[in-house]
Amino acid sequence: MRVVFLGPPGAGKGTQAPRLAAERSCAHVSTGDIFRAAVAEGSDLGKRAKEFMQKGQLVPDDVVNDLVDWRLRKPDCSESFVLDGYPRTLPQAEALDRNLGARGIRLDAVLSFEIGDEVLIDRASGRLICRGCGAAYNTRSAPPKQVGVCDRCSQPLYRRDDDRPEVVKERLRVYREQTQPLIAYYQERSLLRTIDADRSIQVIARELDRMFPREPRSDS
Ligand code: AMP
Repeated sequence: MRVVFLGPPGAGKGTQAPRLAAERSCAHVSTGDIFRAAVAEGSDLGKRAKEFMQKGQLVPDDVVNDLVDWRLRKPDCSESFVLDGYPRTLPQAEALDRNLGARGIRLDAVLSFEIGDEVLIDRASGRLICRGCGAAYNTRSAPPKQVGVCDRCSQPLYRRDDDRPEVVKERLRVYREQTQPLIAYYQERSLLRTIDADRSIQVIARELDRMFPREPRSDS
């Protein structure tokens, strides 16, 4: 399974992509997670990415393309992967095509999470992320069992710096301008599948499970 999750910030990619990847035992590659880890480490990549992330802008294509090229060459991505938050621009989509094409593989599907801006601004204001494992919560729709603490690993939850309303508005503007054209790009290649993202986490998870049925186990 080689799938791309496409959608505006707060549409639910970061909740559904790791879940689907874990259930299908395939690699979950989130460029946002990689950049946040790099920022937390204070690495050169993190320092470079931080200046764009803080403003709600995209990290330059060459930086992201090199990063994903390196990541997809790791053994855990050889058979399958879920790409979460990449590609986000046409040059990134073209770079991904070249990258996969050079290895004789192609994407199976691109899932476009569709949802209105007002819902997204509201969602971002309630979003909390785990410092330990990166799990996403929402104070209204998916609260943790204990306030401020991750259900899975008991680490503290924090609000992303780029979930401030003024930054969310800029991220949405950037999404509509730079990422939305990818919908037509993948439609033309017959890879696009649309997800109505204004539904509960469980309903969307069931739809994804139907779209990507588990392969029967070879020992059963
Ligand atoms: P995300 O967690 O996917 O919302 O990503 C957080 C931030 O990381 C974005 O607002 C961008 O600044 C940066 N970022 C993540 N993925 C990409 C990408 N494919 N291209 C450029 N910047 C990205």
